[in-house]
Amino acid sequence: AQVGVSEFVKSSVRTQDCPSDGLPEFALVGRSNVGKSSLLNSLVRRKRLALISKKPGKTQCINHFRINDSWYASAPQELRTDWAKFTKDYFLSRSTLVSVFLLVDASIPAKTIDLEYASWLAENQIPMTLIFTKCDKRKKKKNGGKRPEENVNDFQELVRGFFKSAPPWIMTSSVTNQGRDEILLHMAQLRNY
Ligand code: GDP
Repeated sequence: AQVGVSEFVKSSVRTQDCPSDGLPEFALVGRSNVGKSSLLNSLVRRKRLALISKKPGKTQCINHFRINDSWYASAPQELRTDWAKFTKDYFLSRSTLVSVFLLVDASIPAKTIDLEYASWLAENQIPMTLIFTKCDKRKKKKNGGKRPEENVNDFQELVRGFFKSAPPWIMTSSVTNQGRDEILLHMAQLRNY
């Protein structure tokens, strides 16, 4: 899959400040360190695109990246462990949002915060895709560590009850680029609905 031009567009602190050209959008969300920046850089094959937008601040913001002049990747910059009101409003009201991509670290067991995110998205019927990150990591022998595949199965078992029908899911690695083409194809399919 080809990704040509990708550029950081802006950081917004209010929904009305976000890009208004109507291009379809995918939000990359998940807790700090789950691999949001790495995944975005891997998708667009740029080492530092997501870094450009990372800046310290006291206000919750959402960063927009325009890809191929045809779609946006957005990423809320989290400052707390829970989603701020702005982020929730955003997911509920952003009409161009095609799907929320919830990133979950497949190298460790599910964290409560991941389950809370999935539960909130399901409850509010926000279209979502589960993106498992760090699938290249080998299991840790200590404290009964599991393989990424096992953690992925466990996670899906845990969230099964939240959804009427299970969300699509993709296993990825920003190190090996596993899942990259699958994500780009999935995005293209969703955009064409
Ligand atoms: P963010 O806070 O969600 O944007 O997470 P980052 O993209 O900054 O990644 C957090 C840490 O996890 C960094 O040290 C990355 O190098 C590492 N990381 C991210 N994705 C992967 C992956 O697919 N495999 C491995 N092994 N490490 C990763």
